[in-house]
Amino acid sequence: MLQRSDRANAISASPTLTIDSKTKALVASGVDVVNLSVGEPDFPTPERASLAAIAAITSNFTKYTAVGGIVELRRGIAEKLWKDNQLQYDPDEIIVSSGAKQSLYNIFMTILNPGDEVILPLPYWVSYPEQIKLCGGVPIPVHTDESTGFKITPERLREAFSAKTKAVLINSPSNPTGAVYTPDEIRALARVIEEYPVYVVSDEIYEQLIYDVEHFSIARYSDTLRARTFVVNGFSKTHAMTGWRVGYVAGPRELVESMSSFQSHTTANPSSISQKAALGALGTFDLNTRHEFQQRRDYVLAQIEQLRGLSCSRPDGAFYIFPNAGSLVGASLRLNDGKRDKIDSVDHLCELLLSEAHVSVVPGAGFGAPDNFRISYATSMPNLQTAMQRISSFLARLN
Ligand code: PMP
Ligand code: GLU
Repeated sequence: MLQRSDRANAISASPTLTIDSKTKALVASGVDVVNLSVGEPDFPTPERASLAAIAAITSNFTKYTAVGGIVELRRGIAEKLWKDNQLQYDPDEIIVSSGAKQSLYNIFMTILNPGDEVILPLPYWVSYPEQIKLCGGVPIPVHTDESTGFKITPERLREAFSAKTKAVLINSPSNPTGAVYTPDEIRALARVIEEYPVYVVSDEIYEQLIYDVEHFSIARYSDTLRARTFVVNGFSKTHAMTGWRVGYVAGPRELVESMSSFQSHTTANPSSISQKAALGALGTFDLNTRHEFQQRRDYVLAQIEQLRGLSCSRPDGAFYIFPNAGSLVGASLRLNDGKRDKIDSVDHLCELLLSEAHVSVVPGAGFGAPDNFRISYATSMPNLQTAMQRISSFLARLN
């Protein structure tokens, strides 16, 4: 009988996107669900980006472009990296792709041979281990929890190295925990990494969404490390442009060329219209956005602190909170018909939150942390207030 590939058998759909689709289908069928699942800013695309895209369409800028993106955009990104991150890159050290998700996949395709290991902090964003495995690599998670603010220490990092280590992945600010490494913490990790002949994948897509702390790219640490680092970023989060699909990598020139070769055979250039939109968006990040996210974080955090059974560390960035709900496993929920439903896992708790309280969150299992769940606060304050009231009433029905 014909069989799917082992690769296809080993993979399932992204849990974040699956839950978002399920939630949107429920909303479309008339159920009043508050969606705290997907990591998608509720702000509109910057007007300058939309106008640039419209101009691209009307001027027929609708054909193939250079595979790695138009030079004006790569030049604009180089300027941004210099201005915001003090990183100096030439436009031909930058490749633009259809979302940072593709950027990451290009990197793993370019650096991994079968059995090569990639060290990454756990909890991790759902797609990292899947992409690493698709490229024949082996994810080596380094466990972190609330006690260290979900950050790896240099000692734990060192323990994870083996003769097969090919890369270390850093994601600061982190999805799903919101953890942000301080410049000193990054330097301490960099000192360890520099001792080994490995690449660094630094996913900085939430770089602008930080509160009271400073973002420091590991590529800034030294020329040695810069020559082995891939800086990943994109327009989805900072510019609220998730649907336009524009991400990029700045990295060593020869590897950027290899990524471009991969991309030339898979998707070729990112959409010409989206590239013009991205060019229009550059430099438009509004500090009010950061302020608004910070207020939302403070509100949700303060609410969670008052809730029985949930605990979490204070996230300094991104737009996620990752409470631990492990103590609620074993409790039972009073249903409307008077029966009780025993909660056997945090996954189950999240299902009940959706079906009974109409609040959609992402269970932690996909992030490697089955006792936690993820709240995205990238939605309006009134939505967050409704959600927190519903979660509070839901928890009051447990015993
Ligand atoms: N990295 C992280 C940490 C993310 O949370 C996401 C999800 N949006 C991505 C990369 C990919 O973003 P996109 O493909 O939308 O640019
Ligand atoms: N990265 C976002 C999230 O974690 C978007 C969905 C995805 O691509 O995983 O929700």
